[in-house]
Amino acid sequence: MSTTAPVLAPLRANEAAQYLITEMQASGLRLEDPAAGAAARKGGAGPTDHKAVTVDGRTVMVPVHSDAAKASPFLARAPDARGVSVLERNGLAVARIEFPRQPRFYRLQTFDGVPYSKIAQLHGSDVLATTVLQTCIRYGRRSTSCQFCAIGESLKEGRTINRKTPEQLGEVARAAVLLDGIKHMVMTTGTPNFTDRGAQILCESAFGVKAAVDLPIQGQCEPPDDPRWFQRMKDAGIDALGMHLEAVTPEVRTRIMPGKASVSVPEYLHAFGDAVKVFGRGQVSTYILAGLGDTDEAILEMCETLIRIGVYPFVVPFVPVGGTPLANHPTPNAAAMRGLLAPLGRMLVEGGLKSADIKAGCGKCGACSSLASYEAGAAAVRAHAA
Ligand code: SF4
Repeated sequence: MSTTAPVLAPLRANEAAQYLITEMQASGLRLEDPAAGAAARKGGAGPTDHKAVTVDGRTVMVPVHSDAAKASPFLARAPDARGVSVLERNGLAVARIEFPRQPRFYRLQTFDGVPYSKIAQLHGSDVLATTVLQTCIRYGRRSTSCQFCAIGESLKEGRTINRKTPEQLGEVARAAVLLDGIKHMVMTTGTPNFTDRGAQILCESAFGVKAAVDLPIQGQCEPPDDPRWFQRMKDAGIDALGMHLEAVTPEVRTRIMPGKASVSVPEYLHAFGDAVKVFGRGQVSTYILAGLGDTDEAILEMCETLIRIGVYPFVVPFVPVGGTPLANHPTPNAAAMRGLLAPLGRMLVEGGLKSADIKAGCGKCGACSSLASYEAGAAAVRAHAA
């Protein structure tokens, strides 16, 4: 009796936070004060049209610019003097939340006059994220573009620059660590060619950052054509690697990402195996977007295979981005996400893969999904049962 109470209390608190995060990511959030916290980004790669919100100590990205968000039952009241906002659902207060503040490094610019915010951005609460090359051979043509991607939009609108040099990346990363306590970095890239598929540019970029500051880096690219690139990337300073399947069934991949689907699932699985040999079990991950047409069974079956290989499957709800062909495609609802993430949390615990053990990157950050809270819940239940 006296031993179960302290265990069950955090379990319930975790469940409540898990529920709230999943609901908010599905419904989006209205803001009484749109200027609260760090600015929400529009367009570009990664979580865009979202705002970082801290709920129960966990920072997550919540859609604020989508059509669904404009009609969301969730409303964040303007923050008080301590930066705390009351979160309401259908007019009733349900939680207190905070917004990570605008990072200090955004106020700076490089010696050659480029604002740091055009080179890298704050993601979540402590992640520096950059798209080292803002163009992609697949982007801009209906026959090859990934339909969810907005990589060209922020470039078109002058909110970023195309090629971030290794020197610029090192300069910004150093400032972000010193001024804002950044803990790890995500480096993604548009695909520049059909051979190394971005590995070379990631090597040069990681080298530039590591020469300036000791910051764990996750590189993200399509599988390179030659597995020797994995060791080259590691030697250049990349600590963890993301190769993103996005969707798992061939039909869905071909429909949603006709160009990228030319690199088949078996080729990805082969590349994952090679990458795990270099980076280690749990240091290779993949992003899977739920809600694009894959069934739960197909996603969970793929996750089982990935976990067996040693790859962390980071499953996130699809969120439409304005200006893309999928701008009006719905986000999966909270019940659908719970049905997917609860068994996945258990599979991760059974497979011994933990987001906290990843050295850098999306799986470690976890802000685009509520997966980490399901993983924590499954770990707590297992510890309680032991
Ligand atoms: S999970 Fe990845 S893409 Fe999402 S906020 Fe974190 S670093 Fe950015």
